[in-house]
Amino acid sequence: MAKARILLVEDSKSQAKVTKEFLERSDYEVDWVEDGKTAIMKVRTRALDIVLLDFVLPDINGNEVCRWMKMNQATRGIPIIMITTMSDTKDKVSCLEAGADDCLPKPYNEIELNARIYACLRTKALQDELRQKNKQLEEMLEKVETLAITDSLTGLFNRRHFEQVLEREFSRSMRYHSSLTCLMADIDYFKKVNDAHGHRTGDELLKEMSGIIKNSCREIDTVSRWGGEEFIILLPQTKKESGLLFAARMLKVISEHRFAGIAGNRMTVSIGVASVPEPSIDTGEKLINASDVALYEAKRKGRDRAEAYA
Ligand code: GH3
Ligand code: MG
Ligand code: MG
Ligand code: MG
Repeated sequence: MAKARILLVEDSKSQAKVTKEFLERSDYEVDWVEDGKTAIMKVRTRALDIVLLDFVLPDINGNEVCRWMKMNQATRGIPIIMITTMSDTKDKVSCLEAGADDCLPKPYNEIELNARIYACLRTKALQDELRQKNKQLEEMLEKVETLAITDSLTGLFNRRHFEQVLEREFSRSMRYHSSLTCLMADIDYFKKVNDAHGHRTGDELLKEMSGIIKNSCREIDTVSRWGGEEFIILLPQTKKESGLLFAARMLKVISEHRFAGIAGNRMTVSIGVASVPEPSIDTGEKLINASDVALYEAKRKGRDRAEAYA
């Protein structure tokens, strides 16, 4: 195991020499600096396990160095033992208030110093371990949260997440009288793909189609897989006319795309468009239903087209 590295901040050369020799005999690696500024520079650039900090320094007061280290995210985990010539309670309290982990009066007993260093290192090791565990936990939590809102086949948002976003966006558009458009897209004759080429090819096609749809949308749009071969898209701040234009662009991109692995290499979708403000739509659920009604109309009128509700 690597030796623990100590930063010794001590302006008295003779005192520093004695302490350094003792620490090295106790199997620590020691960096020695003589003033506060150099100490701050060192802790920023060097991986340290502990700082032995003299209270009285030629430039910055030891308490200030301590405070600086404890205020900085990158250095606050390094334990600091303050060494002070004065031994009254007021000084000890001021060291601890500055954030020191421990403080020791000068002249110190070597065995006691060693024991305190050991105790600080033990605490640091535990804190490091805890921090590491916390990080792992946070990463796991993030993964679980992402999984909970993602459709596993396509990587798009799932239906549940869409409903949550819709609820939020719908009440926002009601409150601010802003427009909101919902698009329901359904692949035309998708069953034929499964029948002719198998379910796996069907799955691949769903993924490819998801990518195309996602790429046609803006950052603020919510693209989800509604079910089977149906996609639902929420376009905030978008009126019906713009929604129809958006749908027409998507129809064009999809119909011009070449899908490998299927007969004819062509696929189309039909799209239903519904928007608020619209007097008959006063809930998110009604907005979805309206886009479904419009989708049915697009299918009825021959597919590969978009129709708007009302
Ligand atoms: P239409 O133009 O009327 O929409 O015709 P369609 O064939 O697309 O419609 P239909 O609803 O009859 O068929 C949808 C098919 O989608 C049926 C189902 O087997 C298939 N499907 C649903 N989910 C998946 C999936 O996750 N993977 C695959 N490969 N197929 C799926
Ligand atoms: Mg000093
Ligand atoms: Mg369908
Ligand atoms: Mg279909």
